[in-house]
Amino acid sequence: MSAPTRRQVAGYLGALAALGAGAAWAGAALAGPERQLVIGGGPAGAAAALALKRATPHAAVLLVERDPKGLARAGASAFDRPGGGPALGALRRAGVEVILDEAVGVHWADQRLALFSGRALAFDRLFLAPGTAARPEAIPGLDPVARHLWPAAWGSAREARRLGAQLAALPDRPHVILRLAHGLSPRHAVLDRAHHLARLLDRTRPGARLTVLDAGTAADLADRFQRRRAGDHGPTPVDWRIAGHGGTVHRVDVRRGWVETDAGPLLADAVNFIETQGAGTIARAAGLVDASGWCPTDPHGRSLTRAQAVILGDARKDAARTVAGALRSGLAAAETGLNA
Ligand SMILES: Cc1cc2nc3c(=O)[nH]c(=O)nc-3n(C[C@H](O)[C@H](O)[C@H](O)COP(=O)(O)OP(=O)(O)OC[C@H]3O[C@@H](n4cnc5c(N)ncnc54)[C@H](O)[C@@H]3O)c2cc1C
Repeated sequence: MSAPTRRQVAGYLGALAALGAGAAWAGAALAGPERQLVIGGGPAGAAAALALKRATPHAAVLLVERDPKGLARAGASAFDRPGGGPALGALRRAGVEVILDEAVGVHWADQRLALFSGRALAFDRLFLAPGTAARPEAIPGLDPVARHLWPAAWGSAREARRLGAQLAALPDRPHVILRLAHGLSPRHAVLDRAHHLARLLDRTRPGARLTVLDAGTAADLADRFQRRRAGDHGPTPVDWRIAGHGGTVHRVDVRRGWVETDAGPLLADAVNFIETQGAGTIARAAGLVDASGWCPTDPHGRSLTRAQAVILGDARKDAARTVAGALRSGLAAAETGLNA
């Protein structure tokens, strides 16, 4: 599918902004249709909303998505996650209501979802598909400024654009650092990131160096990378260090471009700093995550901490964290929700 034009995206935005939740979503459940609320319009949430509407045509299905471009399914940049799942047009044609807003909290006792805009939506069933978000690591110097200037670009289109702009503005013979948190997934996306950075430097910056600081202790990823890299014959040397061998970050000073590792300090012209991931922040705010930072569920996605919630896609503790896995969980949502 070709990427939508700017005009089409503007049209989607207008349509999204114009859509508002009707009165049915404001009050307590009366005799009206059942209200099924889905948070997140990624592959899992959008597939779930469509499946729910098809399975229960008389129910009201409302999807809340905070990113105006997300449902346009625009083509992803090299530093962005891939899109996928039904787009806004398909959802609207099926009768799914869509609103552009951010879910910020859930009041479980009276079954209401609080939105960033200040509105509250009542629901009978709640499906959460918020994807992943960084879990801030306690590394001295890694403050909000550092996170802004050293963007992770791991699932955030805005950060992906910022990282792309920084790499385009690198000086000659730059040193670039890619920092990988422990346990990042999908693994092939981690390899792709390192590979893409190396190839970009090959093409655009003669004399560049890339250092990968891998917080994991296993060498398998480094080995896989070096095998793939050998086929490039690229001029950029890539130094992949694992934890205990230079891959652990102890402290940073973003203003100086300085990273202290377990093998000594490094200076960098650009840093792509990817922190540990967990379920999207609304899942945390709603009390749905355990100590791992992910949402524990039964095999059908029903939350083990809140019986009223069904978790979809990447936010689940045992998720495959691929587009195909997210779509599968979304499609299964209708069945799970109806049997809840
Ligand atoms: C860099 C990267 C590369 C990847 N590459 C691949 C790949 O090549 N192949 C593959 O199969 N998978 C890949 N993946 C994984 C794949 O992107 C995910 O598995 C998939 O997108 C998960 O779908 P999801 O619907 O669960 O979450 P997401 O796609 O993350 O969607 C979540 C949605 O919820 C919205 N949202 C979150 N919180 C709120 C809130 N509070 N209120 C309203 N909306 C909210 C977000 O804006 C987002 O649109 C990659 C992931 C990353 C990070």
